[in-house]
Amino acid sequence: MVQTTCQSCGGVLFARYDLGQVERHVSKPTLASRERSMWRYLELLPVKQESHIVTLGEGYTNVLQLNKLARKVGLKELVMKDDGLLPTGTFKARGMSVAISKCVELGVRKVAVASAGNAGAAMAAYASRGGIESYAYMPKDTPEPIVRECEIYGAKVTLVDGTIADAGKIVDELCSRDDWMVLSTMKEPYRVEGKKTMGFEIAEQFRWRIPDLIVYPTGGGTGIVGMWKAFGELEQIGWMDSKPPRFVSVQSSGCAPVVKAFREGRESCEFWNNAITIAAGLRVPRAYGDYLILRAIRESHGTAVAVSDREMLDAIKEVARTEGIWVCPEGAATYACLPKLKNEGLLDKDEQVLLYNTGLGTLYPDVVKGS
Ligand SMILES: *Cc1c(COP(=O)(O)O)cnc(C)c1O
Repeated sequence: MVQTTCQSCGGVLFARYDLGQVERHVSKPTLASRERSMWRYLELLPVKQESHIVTLGEGYTNVLQLNKLARKVGLKELVMKDDGLLPTGTFKARGMSVAISKCVELGVRKVAVASAGNAGAAMAAYASRGGIESYAYMPKDTPEPIVRECEIYGAKVTLVDGTIADAGKIVDELCSRDDWMVLSTMKEPYRVEGKKTMGFEIAEQFRWRIPDLIVYPTGGGTGIVGMWKAFGELEQIGWMDSKPPRFVSVQSSGCAPVVKAFREGRESCEFWNNAITIAAGLRVPRAYGDYLILRAIRESHGTAVAVSDREMLDAIKEVARTEGIWVCPEGAATYACLPKLKNEGLLDKDEQVLLYNTGLGTLYPDVVKGS
């Protein structure tokens, strides 16, 4: 059995690197000459041998200017980093590419994940490509296209009568056996390493001067925790030419444990009962790495805010009809929260704001039915 969490406190484990070595051996021009994939940051990823990499060409996604929406909300500059065109249609590809590569390196034969949906699909695709058997445990009401996606990639899918938290218990039990590895969010250290590349890409694409604000939809928290780790590593290597950004963590008002804990000044979240939202990726009643999410938001001097499903739906339409991008409900939440941030005085019109779209709208056809 591979050790995936801390044996003494049960907390999250992280990969660490000899950053001095990276500074000596890799330069910004070297990086710039590499392939447009997240594996261009190989020295800052945990896979030791290149032959173990399981890739579908993920990463280095577009940053799009949203000029019309910027004018509408009264901001000088609004941009969107769009991970909707990644393999399997969401940014979950980043984490799973790294995690499955590491499984190949470690000789793991079977993997399992508790997922609200998209992590299962990404796991399934990369596991099949890497020759590893995969098992996905998902809530019964996971959007059907996502269930089909897991199945077509060859994962064994089990629909659980309950939330992702109930699915998680089953997976933990399964993965206590030899040859198995758990890939549930934050229960192993490698998916966060893949998510870290979002931070590296933003830094490089903005010529090492990061936007003032990164607005990011938060479920299990790998994105925020990963990006915060990325900016920390870049700072230590000496590559950052600006201060790190403030994070805005967006959740659905039907499941907003991080927002509640942040606003109450707590260091961890309470379990959110009756979690309901159209944004499947945000339906996480309590994240395993909750304390890390809250820490990253606070250290970045950021904030957390909730929007309703109605507001997400309106935002999906507005972004699609104004800028031509069909974002997922989670991605739409990042746009939907801007008026709230302005009203609360948390957003200045002269700031550069980046919205992170985590997935493709077409994965959720039912939510926009009739609009
Ligand atoms: C999983 C997911 C999220 C939330 O991910 P984090 O683990 O909080 O980074 C957001 N959007 C989509 C589309 C997702 O699948």
